Amino acid sequence: LAKEMRKLEKLKTVSEIAASISHEVRNPLTVIKGFLQLLKESNLNEEDKMMYLAISLDELERAEHIITDYLTFAKPSLENVKVLDLAKELDYVLTVVSPYANMNNVHIEVFWEENLCISGEAAKLHQCLINVIKNGIEAMPEGGQLSVSLKKTGSKAWLSVTDSGTGMSEEQLERLGTPFYTTKDKGTGLGTMVVYSIVKAMSGEIKVKSEENKGTSFTIALPIAQNSQPKDGMKE
Ligand code: ADP
Ligand code: MG
Repeated sequence: LAKEMRKLEKLKTVSEIAASISHEVRNPLTVIKGFLQLLKESNLNEEDKMMYLAISLDELERAEHIITDYLTFAKPSLENVKVLDLAKELDYVLTVVSPYANMNNVHIEVFWEENLCISGEAAKLHQCLINVIKNGIEAMPEGGQLSVSLKKTGSKAWLSVTDSGTGMSEEQLERLGTPFYTTKDKGTGLGTMVVYSIVKAMSGEIKVKSEENKGTSFTIALPIAQNSQPKDGMKE
């Protein structure tokens, strides 16, 4: 836990991160703008045209990835806080990620307990789970099995995402969650940072277990909200 806390402290202030994000998005936009101008003005040969278009599309994809990973992070405080039924939210998230899983030959296995509620903001919870699941899928370049589970222990709901992928070394684990840390060609290094930040805002905890060439398990513990108990109190 001490390690996780240090990691949270390593996060820069929101405004600093927001500044670097807009910088990161502006770079590809500037490149694309330049190439579009070239395409409009000069009489290029077909080969150059194709190259400029390809670079522009790559850069657009990069800007898109940054926005996808970062989407709801601009305001790490929770707004629109509601009692959320975790099974229902998880179901939504699985629908969102299933095309990506299929595309990567990843089969998602799900186990959940019903009637587990937390209080939080749905969009941020979605963002958080999508980022963790996306990383699990990306850790299995040859495809494989990803297990997602939702259980109750004591006063907490535990959400686990376990992949059988590349895993991480001690050194990689240490750097996980720091802004812009990525080992991927087209990575942003923002996904995990966003996850840590959202979990913190929801008064939750994260544990990461990882073994190289075996896989990784992300476990998020969230305080259960009152409404998880039967409303009339008679059904015990
Ligand atoms: P990105 O996915 O864009 O690289 P993230 O912040 O989501 O950025 O992840 C940062 C890095 O943490 C990844 O590049 C990868 O090296 C490592 N990582 C995160 N999740 C996993 C996982 N499930 N298995 C292996 N490595 C992971
Ligand atoms: Mg990621």
